[in-house]
Amino acid sequence: MRIETLSVFPELFEPYMSTSIMGRARAKGIFEFESYDLRDWTHDRHRTVDDAPFGGGAGMLMKVEPLHEAITDISKRGDVSPRVVFFTPCGEPFTQETAERLSQCERILFVCGRYEGMDERAYDLADERLSIGDYVLTGGELPALVVSDAIIRLLPGALGNDMGSVDESFSTADDGGLLEYEQYTRPADFMGKKVPEVLLSGDHAKVDAWRRANALERTCRWRPDLIEHARLTDVERARAAELIEQYHGANAKGADSDVA
Ligand code: SAM
Repeated sequence: MRIETLSVFPELFEPYMSTSIMGRARAKGIFEFESYDLRDWTHDRHRTVDDAPFGGGAGMLMKVEPLHEAITDISKRGDVSPRVVFFTPCGEPFTQETAERLSQCERILFVCGRYEGMDERAYDLADERLSIGDYVLTGGELPALVVSDAIIRLLPGALGNDMGSVDESFSTADDGGLLEYEQYTRPADFMGKKVPEVLLSGDHAKVDAWRRANALERTCRWRPDLIEHARLTDVERARAAELIEQYHGANAKGADSDVA
């Protein structure tokens, strides 16, 4: 896979993309990365990429011409044209499912906004628009890193263990979209807080059953909104209904008292 970014701060990416798992995966050739400077597609002395909005209002907007020229030019490079993904708070919410889908792309170009956003006509070049959440950041560089990280760790070999990302929270692959189960490491007893006995038993079937039940319980408690689309057996769905009633039902006693 090849990941490219287009932004006015191309230098922001390199430290993250050359550190830890990202750095190792890149060194192994699991993905290639390149960041482009939008100002390279400007033609004035000041390398201007922004202008005031028609109709007035605070702040500046990214101009359509450099974006159009850059994306067209970059897309023509290489053998395959990239999937062009724009970041905007008005985009589709980014999820693990989106990461799984994008991880199948051969080439992606992330287009990062700044200022008050972009001239609307720039979005005509987008294959999709993504938001990483209901809050506003100063630029699209962090969203590009967030989405890149989520995609890259799904690429075979990136984690050094291909099973690593399969049973994590939200994964659609194995656990059917539940949150991940609780995990513990040594010591087995920390200030009287004991690791669940079953995890010390060495009985893999029992451990698997406990983890599944625990994932179901946690999802019902913390993210009941995920249950509707989770892949559950009939027995699990009935149990989920009980748990949701217990934690969030009208009569739930103290269900949320220790949530914070
Ligand atoms: N005025 C815009 C609005 O209210 O929707 C916000 C512009 S924001 C200050 C500048 C840029 O940061 C955006 O063009 C986008 O690329 C990026 N950005 C900010 N928050 C984001 C989010 N939650 N998801 C994706 N991109 C975001």
